[in-house]
Amino acid sequence: MKSHGCPLDCFGCCKLNVYVEDNKVVKIEGDKNHPYTKGIVCEKAKNHLKRLNARDRLYSPMKKQNGKWVNITFEEAINIISDKLRYYREKYSSNSVIHYGSSGTGTILKGIEDIFFNFYGGITKIENEICWSAGNKAQKYDFGDNKSNSIEDILNAKNIILWSKNPANSHIQLLPFLKKARQNGAKIIVIDPISTDSTNFCDIHIKINPASDAAMAMAMTKVIIEENLQDAEFIKKNVVGFREYKAYLDTLSMEYLSRECGVNIDTIKEISHIYAEEKYSTICMGYGLQRYKNGGNSVRSIDALAAITGSVGKKGGGVNYSNKVYPKVLNLDPYGSYKYALKDRNWNFHKLLKCSKDIKAIFVSKANPLNQWPDLNNFIKAFENIEFKVCIDMFMTDTAKHCDLIIPCTNTLESEDLLYSSMSNPYIIYNEKCVEPKHKLMDEYYFFMELAKKMGMKEYPYVSKREYLTQVIKPLEKKGITLEKIKNEYVTIQENSIAWSDLKFKTPSKKIEIYSKEAEKDGLSPIPVYVNDEKSDKLRLLTTHPKKSLMSQSFKDVDTMAAANISKNTAEKQDIHNGDIVKLKSSRGEIRVKINITDKVSDNLVHMNVGWWEKSSNPNFLTENQIADMGKQAAYYDTFVEIKK
Ligand code: SF4
Repeated sequence: MKSHGCPLDCFGCCKLNVYVEDNKVVKIEGDKNHPYTKGIVCEKAKNHLKRLNARDRLYSPMKKQNGKWVNITFEEAINIISDKLRYYREKYSSNSVIHYGSSGTGTILKGIEDIFFNFYGGITKIENEICWSAGNKAQKYDFGDNKSNSIEDILNAKNIILWSKNPANSHIQLLPFLKKARQNGAKIIVIDPISTDSTNFCDIHIKINPASDAAMAMAMTKVIIEENLQDAEFIKKNVVGFREYKAYLDTLSMEYLSRECGVNIDTIKEISHIYAEEKYSTICMGYGLQRYKNGGNSVRSIDALAAITGSVGKKGGGVNYSNKVYPKVLNLDPYGSYKYALKDRNWNFHKLLKCSKDIKAIFVSKANPLNQWPDLNNFIKAFENIEFKVCIDMFMTDTAKHCDLIIPCTNTLESEDLLYSSMSNPYIIYNEKCVEPKHKLMDEYYFFMELAKKMGMKEYPYVSKREYLTQVIKPLEKKGITLEKIKNEYVTIQENSIAWSDLKFKTPSKKIEIYSKEAEKDGLSPIPVYVNDEKSDKLRLLTTHPKKSLMSQSFKDVDTMAAANISKNTAEKQDIHNGDIVKLKSSRGEIRVKINITDKVSDNLVHMNVGWWEKSSNPNFLTENQIADMGKQAAYYDTFVEIKK
């Protein structure tokens, strides 16, 4: 049996037991003894095995020749890339090259490309984060860092608000805790514009209007202040900006906020009392609520709600969003590659669209951007403008097919590595190589080492994976943590912790900053504000992660047409029936989808899953290329569509 962790971009970071016979993986199951994941894994874990043995898996590098793919050797691929990279660096500068890597596989050594391109001289990076960056930035303004209470602390919570979070799909390890907390008397309140599998087991579902999370949080804050339920002592000692925020809230009437979020005032009052009266209740946020233009402010307004009730730093309290523990303590660039990245620069999506002709080469790894990026019609054109395009993947994805060169890579089960989550699971996991890949250079770590050799990079770390990972965890050695220990035991540096229990915040004032001068310096309102000017008579398109597939790279086996969920009223208005094939049209493009009529969505919405490949109709041919207020987050959810029969 080999020990491994699921490397998908997930709260779970599930610990797996992998059974191997004759260099074949025969079974994958959850490790029942793991203190966090306790044997709980989702179907996506089994997909690693399906993907490992998939018939359409790529094993040989391929180059496009006269529009057709031809197999080449790894040596040829390395020669081609090395020649191109030298040429572009000499002729245009190293930052005429882009590397786009995302979280398709979230292990340390699957990110070795970043290190390689630093040694190359520094390149252009896409700084937009499509997933969660507005929320992370918002919590940095408020608390100075991204931390969450341990999962076990849910059992101390008097009540639990799942704000735009659907753990039944995206955080299954939380489910047994929620069940137990509920048996102990805690109420579970879900605030979400759509009904999900998590609303099936909650006590109260507040089906707010999309994009109105800040209005809801502000309305609750107003009730708490008006009814004197705030923790005045906590505010005095630990919070900056209460007065300014209250003055702002005084300008917003309850009637206005209630109308905006579509929740009546009595219900807002009821939820406010449930949250503020019993000490302490917790808020667990998902990532959907910050995928609007006002997304960062929405998270800041929820943080402020927790701050004024004194729930931060308390057992059973907290406002849990992400938990970035390891990036701060590990030595993630152990050989100092950053010193060589002199030409590094960051671009956002808009800049790439405008200036793609200035980019000569793009490398894509652990990602499928021509599936995940918004406004795909325009991004595909921009991508095509780039002279030399390389994709590193196990399969011919929607991105790979637009490239000039494909380098096959290892499945996680074929790769030794180290893994941690920045969302919830606080355990670091050692991934044993379970089976040998067909070719050593399919492992990105060795491929880029060969490429570095070919390019004569003298300073590049020509060391074994073992040696590299040992350097990465060096800072943990003083705590007695070694690679062997991580391999053989369950290791965490953050057990049963309460975020900010010492009340020493990492903000400039060392307090919770409802008024943030840092935000002000960045050209934002220093206090959370509610702005929702994206209104339309059309239907808002919301796209969420499905249960069975997390990353767009894994959607390859879905051949059916994409489904779009609409309400009965919306269907009746347009004389549409269940199963009808219709066109969805936005200002960016149109796709054909199969209609599913459901009472899970309101009349103002179309809901789809993310990840559908182009062959099935990808909703990102509709989404707008907009950026949220903070963290360069893509504001996917401010997209409006019409249904055309
Ligand atoms: S996708 Fe998440 S929940 Fe599923 S096995 Fe992987 S880490 Fe666990």
